[in-house]
Amino acid sequence: MSTRKLAKKLGLLRQRSQSTSGVKKSVISNQIFSYLVVIDFESTCWREKNNYGQEIIEFPAVLLNTSSGEVESEFHTYVQPQEHPVLSNFCTELTGITQVQVEAGVPLQICLSRFNRWVQNLQLEKGVMFPNKQQTCSAFSPSQKMCTFLTWSDWDLGVCLQYECKRKQLLKPDVLNSWIDLRSTYRLFYSRKPKGLNGALQDLGIQFSGREHSGLDDARNTARLAARMMRDGCVLKITRSLETVSGYLTTSLKNPVS
Ligand code: AMP
Ligand code: MG
Ligand code: MG
Repeated sequence: MSTRKLAKKLGLLRQRSQSTSGVKKSVISNQIFSYLVVIDFESTCWREKNNYGQEIIEFPAVLLNTSSGEVESEFHTYVQPQEHPVLSNFCTELTGITQVQVEAGVPLQICLSRFNRWVQNLQLEKGVMFPNKQQTCSAFSPSQKMCTFLTWSDWDLGVCLQYECKRKQLLKPDVLNSWIDLRSTYRLFYSRKPKGLNGALQDLGIQFSGREHSGLDDARNTARLAARMMRDGCVLKITRSLETVSGYLTTSLKNPVS
């Protein structure tokens, strides 16, 4: 019997606990938020026309428990673009999303109401609460779990959804007005600029799982990255808030990471 096997048999070697994703597991502590909803939209795009109004074609969200580092619930919908209903070949190649998938999807308005229902269920089933500007942490009862949104960069909630809702005059759920930008948080916490989400994972020795630019895979990998950063001691805080002041939307940058 090898020394390693013998040591294992005698219980002298600590078994490394691994999650299904292959990332080291341990309980995370000292976080402000008990849960994070990680979002990563895919949208219409073209090789050269960058200033076209982009429309969401994939709307995924994953609920990350910040104590366990595990994903507990997922929301996923393909969305029909209406301003430019036919996807460019470039867009299908980049995202892997096909014309058939978006045609089987729903318009953004319906997607948003399904998303609202998913969020309401989380509130009922898990006690998840989204704090707004008027509330402080002490306003929450112990059974309520503080939660906020998290994305890789400000593009998803600060640009893409924001402008599409404005153009289409859709009511954007209020909860989507503040979020954590993991990209700027990562830059500050590790003092380096990673090459995209994949580069950020690679720099930490984590392999991207699934297909890059698939919204659901991007959201799951962003959640894995957030879990790793919390294990490394990063306390995740809201970095961006959109506020309505006399009917006008303004943006404010909150203190990013201490
Ligand atoms: P991502 O979350 O990185 O997959 O990007 C979100 C969206 O940004 C994609 O669905 C595209 O609409 C757009 N996008 C990302 N990368 C590119 C690129 N290299 N060229 C054009 N558009 C892109
Ligand atoms: Mg993205
Ligand atoms: Mg993506």
